[in-house]
Amino acid sequence: MRDKVYLSSPHMSGGEMKYVNQAFDQNWIAPLGPNVDAFEESLASYCHVEHAAALSSGTAALHLALIILGVKRGDEVLVSSMTFSASVNPIVYQGATPVFIDSEKDTWNMDPVLLEKAILDRKAKGSQEKLKAIVVVHLYGMPAKMDEIVEIANRYNIPLIEDAAEALGSKYKGKPLGSFGLMSVLSFNGNKIITTSGGGALLSNDENKIKKARFLATQARDQALHYQHSEIGYNYRLSNVLAGIGRGQLEVIEDRVRRKREINLFYKNNLGQFDGIDFLHEPDNSYFSNYWLTTILVDPEKTGTTCQQIQLALDKENIESRPLWKPMHLQPIFKSYPAYLNNVSESLFEHGLCLPSGSNISNEVLKLIVDIVKSTLNKRV
Ligand SMILES: *Cc1c(COP(=O)(O)O)cnc(C)c1O
Repeated sequence: MRDKVYLSSPHMSGGEMKYVNQAFDQNWIAPLGPNVDAFEESLASYCHVEHAAALSSGTAALHLALIILGVKRGDEVLVSSMTFSASVNPIVYQGATPVFIDSEKDTWNMDPVLLEKAILDRKAKGSQEKLKAIVVVHLYGMPAKMDEIVEIANRYNIPLIEDAAEALGSKYKGKPLGSFGLMSVLSFNGNKIITTSGGGALLSNDENKIKKARFLATQARDQALHYQHSEIGYNYRLSNVLAGIGRGQLEVIEDRVRRKREINLFYKNNLGQFDGIDFLHEPDNSYFSNYWLTTILVDPEKTGTTCQQIQLALDKENIESRPLWKPMHLQPIFKSYPAYLNNVSESLFEHGLCLPSGSNISNEVLKLIVDIVKSTLNKRV
């Protein structure tokens, strides 16, 4: 049988092994070395920021960002509800309270209107001093409404962290995502647009913040001949071997973005004509999405089918598809935290499906996927 088709599987460029071999040749098999330095430089330059720290995961990057902002027990962090749990877990690692903000319909990201409402309400409830950060997620590569969100963050003087884990290569008004926040988080997990098998990065224009991130990520060792520690440290650095993979991957990021956008267009051209199938669109030319994953919304009334039925039909052909992220305010572990809601993310979760979007999927397989989806339409089970 055909190999399983994944949602977004690793896609090597062929250039990775040169850097991995260099690491072996020079015996830099450690969480530091020339590949780490070069990868950090290329990332910073690609994202139009001054500094980058290469880390073991996106989760680790967000954790360090929160620590650097001084987020601690009892503090509150405003965060998108429609996201992967990794956007929220580090808030809880710090003993702080996530405050969930629902989505708006245009980009599916944090609703600026609800964000402001939440800030005013938390203040009214006495949390003024506790509001330590806003974590805005760019879902599936689509930029959030950054003009509005940056303006609110500035007006209320709350530091903004971008979770750009899914959005490397996306832009807002021509500026790369990851360059808007005081700090920003990237991920190079196996399913992301580029991968180091596992890895992440923290970006910032503030050199002190990135220096601090590197310090905390290497067990917070003070300057001394012996091992001395004045702070709690972490083991969060990226391996020099894996940074070699990252260097090879970053060289082809533009090809990957081009292909992801081509795949998105193919799905839109072949499924967009059906009443009851809707896509996430760039609201206007301020938005440029890497379309990490192509997603559809399925209206059961109009199509006679459901996301679940489409998922099953694809699964029968050994093709992976997945519901959209289940909002965090609906997760058993997070449901007791405050949430500012408008029903948008719940409705997206109910009707949405992620289609296979790997940059290495062939056009034949894309055509097969479209045919399978079409075959489920207007057939009630
Ligand atoms: C993948 C992802 C992360 C976490 O990245 P890891 O490198 O897997 O720790 C964080 N936020 C979002 C939105 C993600 O998709």
